[in-house]
Amino acid sequence: MKKQFAVIGVGRFGSSVAETLSGLGNEVLAIDQDEEKTQDIVNKVTHVVQADSTDEDAMRALGLRNFDVVVVAIGQDIQASILTTIILKEMGVPTVIVKAQTELHGKVLRKIGADKVIFPERDMGQRVAHHLVSPNILDYIELSEDHSIMELRASRQMIGRNLRQLDIRAKHGCNVIGIKTGESMNIAPSPEDVIKENDILVLVGRNKDLQKFELDYS
Ligand code: ADP
Repeated sequence: MKKQFAVIGVGRFGSSVAETLSGLGNEVLAIDQDEEKTQDIVNKVTHVVQADSTDEDAMRALGLRNFDVVVVAIGQDIQASILTTIILKEMGVPTVIVKAQTELHGKVLRKIGADKVIFPERDMGQRVAHHLVSPNILDYIELSEDHSIMELRASRQMIGRNLRQLDIRAKHGCNVIGIKTGESMNIAPSPEDVIKENDILVLVGRNKDLQKFELDYS
């Protein structure tokens, strides 16, 4: 059965989440207190409601309890974000995902029962910084405080050598989980696979090992 999603606050981040979910074929309810914002998204999601998410009665009337996942993407108004999260968890929404502005905001959200707290600006900032420091790094996704996935373009020292020769796992403690060659993606690389010019490697590992790898091969 398809999951039911609701997104509260359809600013830049929330509207992107809502539209993407909808584009992937999901039913999406978008809620925003701003009429203009609701108008902007009306043709892109299943239902749109103009409401204040800190109004508990209004949220109950919308039946949000029956949604599998509710994303709270309220930007600046930290108080509204916290109140909304409490209301949703008290109503019994199984999964509430909340965008946080600051670390402290995130800490409060976790304490009051948010199932997942996301920091889009912080995470995107880190990804951009990694790319700026070493342009070979195309993407960097934090999996936990200590582990990340890194996507990087093969450097000169790697080209023409296979994974066994590079011995990345033993030397750097990281795993190559994919090799992208043009449009094709090898998701089960073998030790004999040779790295070619313009290949992109996808690695998973501890942050400090990935950083060392990044320095050794840049
Ligand atoms: P972003 O940085 O993602 O663009 P914004 O702060 O611009 O974030 O957007 C947040 C959205 O959340 C706005 O469209 C705003 O109208 C909406 N919003 C803020 N508070 C509430 C609330 N209490 N109820 C419903 N929507 C809200």
